[in-house]
Amino acid sequence: MPTTTPAFATSSATAPLAASTIERRDPGPNDVAIDVLFCGVCHSDIHQARNEWGNATYPMVPGHEIVGRVTKVGANVKKLAVGDLAGVGCMVGSCGECPACKSGSEQYCIKGCAQTYNSTEMDRKTPTYGGYSTHVVVAESFTLKIPAGLDPAGAAPLLCAGITTYAPLREYGCKKGDRVGVVGLGGLGHMAVKLAASMGAEVTLFSSSPSKEADARRLGASNFVVTKDPANLAKLAGSLDLIIDTVSAAHDYNAYLAMLRAKGTMVLVGAPPEPSAVSCFSLIMGGKRLVGSMIGGVPETQEMLDHCGKHKIVSDIELIPIQKINEAYERMIKADVKYRFVVDLGSLR
Ligand code: NAP
Ligand code: ZN
Repeated sequence: MPTTTPAFATSSATAPLAASTIERRDPGPNDVAIDVLFCGVCHSDIHQARNEWGNATYPMVPGHEIVGRVTKVGANVKKLAVGDLAGVGCMVGSCGECPACKSGSEQYCIKGCAQTYNSTEMDRKTPTYGGYSTHVVVAESFTLKIPAGLDPAGAAPLLCAGITTYAPLREYGCKKGDRVGVVGLGGLGHMAVKLAASMGAEVTLFSSSPSKEADARRLGASNFVVTKDPANLAKLAGSLDLIIDTVSAAHDYNAYLAMLRAKGTMVLVGAPPEPSAVSCFSLIMGGKRLVGSMIGGVPETQEMLDHCGKHKIVSDIELIPIQKINEAYERMIKADVKYRFVVDLGSLR
């Protein structure tokens, strides 16, 4: 018998999120049932709830930064036991057979991975619903172990903001002494600063909010640049090895590419709905790379969690009851969050 589960859902691109219920399946032999304790609020939740990416399906229950307590495990489950703290990120399934899945990059599954919400299970029929709910049932292979010693609420944003910034830092070889630029100090941006600093990089934070300078330095940035004045960027031409761009709204990528050294790399993780023109000369002059990156695979997500466990890294959060979710969305759009809202699902029980 499926379980009727309290959730917060939206029914259209313009409707606020409101109390609702969804059905969760009984855990099968390979499944883990989890009581959701905390769920982070990602800007992707806003893009999707409001259909800004044009792929929304309703009703939608957002939330893909889930930390909870395991309540039941199927007969074949080995990774987790009842009572463990478990995490679920942006994916709940993939084909398991394509080269991407076989190499641990399930996010790039050739068939399209099953996303945690606004998607379907791999049967392509059963809708998926996210972590703004009290209970989830997920295949063991898409669950993560939360390291002991990390605050569970602060660890929730690691499941998306953490892995989305950790993966490109690793992929493009962030190491001690590298000069890494991070654009935007929101949920992803503040994790990028903490993680790059933990790898020994010298971090320069680019922000449209002058008031965030003290926080940027406290989080681990050595330099802080206000982006509203183009002269501030021009001064840094050719000075950075790697840039992680986390900005959620359209902006000029050319201005940032100019700050890379020859053969440097700029990684887009921020996903503004509108396109932005890139001049070929921004790349040709200096042989630069402009790449995108989507979250991270399951093995790398566990590696990131273990790195955070070792370095005692969690997100700086503002804990809210689910009833404040619509207000939180409005504040995020104004870049007014320090630095991740996390929903306490105790408020829905
Ligand atoms: P967030 O917490 O809202 O942070 C975004 C930051 O971007 C803001 O705090 C602000 O920083 C800056 N910003 C916002 N509007 C701006 C504007 N008009 N001009 C200049 N800067 C602006 O969002 P988030 O949760 O970190 O997500 C950031 C983006 O990454 C979203 O588009 C999200 O969908 C995307 N995302 C992608 C992936 C992936 O796998 N690639 C995963 C998760 C999220 P300052 O105040 O410092 O300027
Ligand atoms: Zn996210």
